[in-house]
Amino acid sequence: MSDPVLKIRNVESFYGPIMALRGVSLDVAEGRIVSILGANGAGKTTLMKTVSGVMDPEKGTISFDGDEIQGQEPHRIVQRGIVHVPEGREVFPLLSVNENLTLGGYSVRDKAQVMRDRDLVFSYFPILAERRDQEAGTLSGGQQQMLAIGRGLMAGPRIMLLDEPSLGLSPLLVQEIFEILRRLNAEQGMTMMLVEQNAAAALELAHDGYVMELGRIVMDGPADTLMQSQDIRNFYLGVQ
Ligand code: ATP
Repeated sequence: MSDPVLKIRNVESFYGPIMALRGVSLDVAEGRIVSILGANGAGKTTLMKTVSGVMDPEKGTISFDGDEIQGQEPHRIVQRGIVHVPEGREVFPLLSVNENLTLGGYSVRDKAQVMRDRDLVFSYFPILAERRDQEAGTLSGGQQQMLAIGRGLMAGPRIMLLDEPSLGLSPLLVQEIFEILRRLNAEQGMTMMLVEQNAAAALELAHDGYVMELGRIVMDGPADTLMQSQDIRNFYLGVQ
């Protein structure tokens, strides 16, 4: 396998005295989709925040394209192409769909590129084109999630960090959004790391998976191998 584009080694992160990441190591190779599974409180969100620069790790290294980036400011990390897609509820509710997308592309200097990116977003999410002048707060939950992903795409990412893209969505919408993520990966080569409580959907989509418990990685491997694991089937997929 080629050298991973994102390499996390022995990372420890704290909230005051609380150790939320206890020596996490993982790799994301270019063009792959990696899912991080784990129950509430396992440390998935903390891992995302630490990669995107919102939190500084106490120990360990995070390398992107061979450069160590741990502890850098979030905007520097975005400039490098690591773009965090928050939950859909974090779009700007009083701004229109178009304005939300334009803000997503604020770091892209070339205006023609911004237009091309917007066309790309609209081609994957035609409903956003239909509703481009509508206030984002009036969109459905699924459409707001699409807008959050679209806004992330506008930043021209090399890797997207997706935080619970299935949260609060009906099974049908989860399927629809995950199919679009699959196409973005297959057609645009977009590298993705996503954290999910919906283990079934996440493993279905991903090439590789990691399982977190209490701030540690306790299992990892190709997604189809993880799907066959009895522990994963019992604890995360709810099947025997
Ligand atoms: P969830 O799916 O509920 O977001 P998670 O796997 O993302 O869970 P984290 O939110 O990363 O887990 O939490 C990891 C640990 O850090 C938990 O023990 C949690 O209680 C603790 N924690 C998270 N945020 C804070 C905070 N702001 N202050 C103190 N402790 C926190």
